[in-house]
Amino acid sequence: LDRLDAVRAEGRMPFSVEFMPPRDEEGEARLWRAVRTFERMDPAFVSMTYGAGGSTRDRTVRVTGEIAETTTLLPVAHLTAVNHSISELRALMGSYADQDVRNVLVLRGDPPGDPLGKWVRHPAGLKYASEVVELVRELGDFHVGVAAFPEGHHRSPDLDTDVRYFANKLRAGADYSITQMFFDVDDYLRLRDAVAAADPEQGAKPLIPGIMPITSLKSVVRMAELSNAKIPEAMRAELRAAAGDGPEENRAAVRAVGIDIATRMGERLIAEGAPALHFCTLNFAKATSEVLENLGMLPVGV
Ligand code: FAD
Repeated sequence: LDRLDAVRAEGRMPFSVEFMPPRDEEGEARLWRAVRTFERMDPAFVSMTYGAGGSTRDRTVRVTGEIAETTTLLPVAHLTAVNHSISELRALMGSYADQDVRNVLVLRGDPPGDPLGKWVRHPAGLKYASEVVELVRELGDFHVGVAAFPEGHHRSPDLDTDVRYFANKLRAGADYSITQMFFDVDDYLRLRDAVAAADPEQGAKPLIPGIMPITSLKSVVRMAELSNAKIPEAMRAELRAAAGDGPEENRAAVRAVGIDIATRMGERLIAEGAPALHFCTLNFAKATSEVLENLGMLPVGV
């Protein structure tokens, strides 16, 4: 959070990027290319998602520590409750602290395999992200972020209940939140205003919008299904027109429209006072850097 202020003090709009843990050596090389490319663009922080598989988990902790140690970037480690006992969560936080990783995005996590399937608490674990926030707070001096859902979380019965639990999670000790990627800026504004109305103190905490520049119609439709994000009909039509009706979608045209959509969303979010923009990169730097360039958010000389 200090980093958001520091970037703003330089007269720049802060941004952050999200990486995924690499699965193998080749993926790790790709991740490092993206890390080094973004390093030159001076993001406020970079976050590393946390997966369900055991070996990926070890790799995630190691790579996050390496980013802290060998780059100028500030890593934020995602921490999920799913399939972990409390003592495992304590041990994980210990490993992060040993590597000087002091920023965590606390999540409950989805059931591995089927994100929309039944959520089962680990017999010695925790059920909600708010409980993990409390645990992390007890463990020491960490900066804590949580997840927010502009369209409401898919397990919440309605938007009012969703806002109530979200404010509760912030109250448990989170400093800020990052949203699920979304494509309708009105949804972000609705959440922001609803939290501010329900609890002005929590509403004052930064709510960082998550943006994913679209580079393929097929993959964004699949990703939107997995994360339950809706793509507004006008946007879908724009992308469909660019994709064409051939057997293969016109990737270059879809990509150009995707960059344009992300740029327009960014412009509106900045005009609305968003505290930073968070980009889901899938470990590729190019699309995000084009959007940053369009928005005039790159440091001078990059
Ligand atoms: P919670 O805040 O615990 O909420 C889960 C549900 O429980 C909600 O419906 C909420 O309204 C409800 N709820 C909360 N408190 C209560 C209560 N006291 N009583 C009844 N109901 C309650 N997943 C991963 O596995 N790895 C990642 O790295 C990862 N990164 C993410 C990053 C971002 C920015 C976002 C937005 C999501 C990420 N996710 C990740 C996905 C996330 O783990 C899932 O969306 C999960 O379903 C919700 O997590 P949460 O932390 O918001 O859960």
